[in-house]
Amino acid sequence: MSVKILENLCNGCGACIAKCPFDAIEIVDGIAKFKDNCTGCGACGKACPSNAIEVTRKAKKAPKNNADYKGVWVFIEQRGGKIDSVALELLSEGRKLADELKVELSGVLLGDTVEGLAKECFAYGAEKVYLIDGPIFKDYRTDSYTTAICEIINEYKPEIVLFGATNNGRDFAARIAVRITTGLTADCTELSIDPETRLLRQTRPAFGGNVMATILCPNHRPQMATVRPKVMKMSEPDYTRTGEIIRCSNTVKEEDITTKILEIVQNVTHNVNLQDAEIIVSGGRGIGGPEHYHLITELADALGGVAGASRAAVDAGWVPHYRQVGQTGKTVSPKLYFACGISGAIQHLAGMSSSEIIVAINTDPEAPIFNVATFGIVGDLHKILPLLTQKIKELKGK
Ligand SMILES: Cc1cc2nc3c(=O)[nH]c(=O)nc-3n(C[C@H](O)[C@H](O)[C@H](O)COP(=O)(O)OP(=O)(O)OC[C@H]3O[C@@H](n4cnc5c(N)ncnc54)[C@H](O)[C@@H]3O)c2cc1C
Repeated sequence: MSVKILENLCNGCGACIAKCPFDAIEIVDGIAKFKDNCTGCGACGKACPSNAIEVTRKAKKAPKNNADYKGVWVFIEQRGGKIDSVALELLSEGRKLADELKVELSGVLLGDTVEGLAKECFAYGAEKVYLIDGPIFKDYRTDSYTTAICEIINEYKPEIVLFGATNNGRDFAARIAVRITTGLTADCTELSIDPETRLLRQTRPAFGGNVMATILCPNHRPQMATVRPKVMKMSEPDYTRTGEIIRCSNTVKEEDITTKILEIVQNVTHNVNLQDAEIIVSGGRGIGGPEHYHLITELADALGGVAGASRAAVDAGWVPHYRQVGQTGKTVSPKLYFACGISGAIQHLAGMSSSEIIVAINTDPEAPIFNVATFGIVGDLHKILPLLTQKIKELKGK
């Protein structure tokens, strides 16, 4: 939609100003003028008694032919030449989807001199890597990445595109979906192929995690989903695998990008990497107060792990939010997860139930956490944790 004032017809009556939802019209020298914040919505058009506002609707794009779209793509997020582990998890999952559909799996790699990363994509199952390489893509910027990826999606037409639900992935996957007029399912916890329709079944928690909703995108392409880190299992890499690199051109110019990166400041305050930890000890409301959280950190330290928390402990102000595990915190998948004084609400389980071994410590034998626990200890964490920490220190000392 676009709007234009026909100056020869406008008499400056101001009727359009009252109808504008964005306060984006002013009268200058007796003639209506659009301000910079005009969205071109066209609400003013009907209001003009002199027919002095021309509203033009853009012709609808020709509908896409879904049959033209083939293959599964994974966005390969990298920072400073290191691939984010969620991209490798998605390649592992994407491999299964592509095998089921009998199509190719490809990675989409953007950055500055990042071609060397393609071999890692092949090792994790990609047959092709679409490479967009250049200084302009050195650091993630919404404008440049969105435009470049939209261009190659329109050119090569993949049927499925998967993104990690990282800050960057969340930022630009939604923009891509809008620009190329398709749907996006955020934070999927399960992906599969419907054998009859070949549609991507995108499953995610809904209504506060109380139901699992499976979402389909039957009419638009590509089908797009974001998946949080650690939700999908990473396969074993095979570095003997090779593949094809497709070097893509793009039309992105520095002057078209509205943001400039002046400096990247590493966040040094929260050097807690829950998502990559192999051992996590989490404390919930059952710890009884912030003064007891040291029981959790001491066991975590003794085991060489990281301390986490439930949302109840975070909301109470006992533990900072960056330690929260669960639906609105981090999704983790360690080898060993201790849930201490945590009841096992579905929103907490959503973030840790894929842990290899779960040890639950709870005074209530009926607590739901015991339904997912590998080992359960019914008892008071204030007595059990110091004994456990002491024993582990002794064993390590030996
Ligand atoms: C939209 C939404 C998103 C949410 N996201 C998250 C999320 O990301 N992460 C999350 O954790 N929650 C989340 N929640 C909250 C979730 O529903 C629960 O309220 C929360 O997980 C409860 O935390 P808790 O298990 O520590 O506390 P409680 O449910 O109060 O459980 C405390 C447990 O400690 C036990 N206990 C008490 N004293 C002791 C003791 N001395 N020794 C041993 N055990 C003891 C009790 O028996 C009880 O089982 C979310 C909720 C909503 C609605």
